[in-house]
Amino acid sequence: MPVLPKSVENVIEEFSRLPGVGPKSAARMAYHYIRSPNKDASKLASALNEMEENVKYCEKCFNVADRDVCTLCSSPLRKKNKLCVVEEPLDVVAFENSGVYDGLYFVLGGVISPAEGIGEEELRFKELEKRVNELLKEVKDKESVEIIVATNPSLEGEATASYIIDLFAKLAKEEKVNITRLAMGLPTGADLEYADRLTLKRALEGRRGI
Ligand SMILES: [Zn+2]
Repeated sequence: MPVLPKSVENVIEEFSRLPGVGPKSAARMAYHYIRSPNKDASKLASALNEMEENVKYCEKCFNVADRDVCTLCSSPLRKKNKLCVVEEPLDVVAFENSGVYDGLYFVLGGVISPAEGIGEEELRFKELEKRVNELLKEVKDKESVEIIVATNPSLEGEATASYIIDLFAKLAKEEKVNITRLAMGLPTGADLEYADRLTLKRALEGRRGI
């Protein structure tokens, strides 16, 4: 006989799907909402609903946004000759928190990982090419666009970086783009999302051409 009411089991199951949350933590979270006197469960439910309804991907950089073009892409203060290519939206947050970057971003949506069955087609390489060509038209004559490859220093991140280098080899030869990679201040296997400000700042400032 099931010990818990179905409605509680459902909630535990949903919380268990969250990254880094096991069944025990999921159960603790469910009990927290059962005990909570302030209609916290309704607040959580409506916050999630609101997020689902309002959040979309920026059509230029694919970061999460509440409008078609995000505030970073539409800001006149951001330099159009620098495009930092990252894996996930949270990497953008990490760079913005470091406060040392004034260019634009592009979110790939992951890394090439044969082990997890993620190939080139699953990532936004076509959109990246489109975005770079768009920026080349927007920057002044003879100015090149720097593509800063900021994938994580993991095997998959490196494989993805190589793919980007190949993708823009022709434009790099024509000196229209200049491809750089973050400096090795970041230990192999590190996650940009969790890098502290100073490490990220050094990695960005020490970036080198490839
Ligand atoms: Zn954007």
